[in-house]
Amino acid sequence: MTIYTGPVFAMAREQFGAIADHLDIPLDERDRLLYPKRAITVSIPIHMDDGSTTVFEGYRVQHHLTFGATKGGVRFAPNVDIGEVGALSVWMSWKCALAGLPYGGAKGGVACDPQKLSIRELEAVSRRYMQEMIPFVGPHTDVMAPDMGTNEQVMAWFMDTYSMHIGHAVPEIVTGKPVALGGTVGRREATGRGVVYLVERALNQLKINPVGTTAIVQGYGNVGSVTAINLARRTGSRIVGISDHTAAYYDPRGLDIDSIERHAGANRGVLAGWSEQLAIDPGELIEQPCDILVPAAVERVINGENAGRIKCRILAEGANGPTTPEADRILDRRRDEVLVIPDILCNSGGVIVSYFEWVQDLQQLFWAETEVNDKLYRLLEMAFTQVTKRAAAENISNRTAAMAIGVEKVREGKRLRGLFP
Ligand code: GLU
Repeated sequence: MTIYTGPVFAMAREQFGAIADHLDIPLDERDRLLYPKRAITVSIPIHMDDGSTTVFEGYRVQHHLTFGATKGGVRFAPNVDIGEVGALSVWMSWKCALAGLPYGGAKGGVACDPQKLSIRELEAVSRRYMQEMIPFVGPHTDVMAPDMGTNEQVMAWFMDTYSMHIGHAVPEIVTGKPVALGGTVGRREATGRGVVYLVERALNQLKINPVGTTAIVQGYGNVGSVTAINLARRTGSRIVGISDHTAAYYDPRGLDIDSIERHAGANRGVLAGWSEQLAIDPGELIEQPCDILVPAAVERVINGENAGRIKCRILAEGANGPTTPEADRILDRRRDEVLVIPDILCNSGGVIVSYFEWVQDLQQLFWAETEVNDKLYRLLEMAFTQVTKRAAAENISNRTAAMAIGVEKVREGKRLRGLFP
């Protein structure tokens, strides 16, 4: 029996089962590694602008506490549930371990549609969520960050709510805050920058000249937008396709990314209304030919149905869990055609710079952006090298290699600490 139901947790469980088999982990050790340590569910009653009261459901799942605080984002999205948040917390653990960060994974969520809330309502949801979580979080217990549907402003409200309770400013309670409140330079761009760094590494490994490569980016949130803009401006890629939850556009000659950026900036961040001629069915977009395909939106978009049809050289997983285990088996057979940069490696730039933010807050000593970026690229380089070396040595996929490294580190930590009491 478990509270972690639904397809996303089932996916995390299936992936873990395959890794545990690969690592020969005894059956009686597996549940201890997979199942989260704590799960908190809260109700969040809010006065709406129209005078009514609405109760939202909020979650926080803390996967393991072996190395220190737990770490991970908070997602505001209509369909969030405990199973999804649980799975995302598990993935955060493997991600942090792979990057060598002293954290266990966590994730939070509030089932709400932030696009439909006024700013005042959004602030009320954010503050009440943090208020309800105060007994369970802390700078050395659990440190929150942005995820889908949350941003720097939400982190500022979290930080203020926690700090008002404690009686003094506690910037280290969250990462991804505004720089003016103790956030770090380079955090907002970190995930996208990391994706682009790893794409360039993969292109280099494949001996492909980055200039003139074609890319399709699914998702135009914090990760997708920074990735698309940097691929176009830094790498010299042509963005041939882009989408978000409101629209999808495709043009094999290349899209005008500057114009898209301006449009989104003027329209609450969404892509709808940018062009009529270049619109394409979102499901078809990811099957179009390109060198670099970046799913940077939600889970399970590459599945048993379409995994055989995607036509890219590099699949760079900016999102968490975009590829189902069934799709993985198909991609594994296509290893010579498609190089996968698995999510826990590909999008780890975000949590890596979150870690830098937390360290700077604890020390009250702040770094320049070049220092942040240099340190970020160094950690990504180390993780990329470890993953690709292990994949080659054991003839396994990059995902299996990345997860094996993450799971092994958590397992070793638990072994060394022993079982209490
Ligand atoms: N939400 C991001 C992730 O999924 C970042 C987490 C963090 O910075 O703690 O990796």
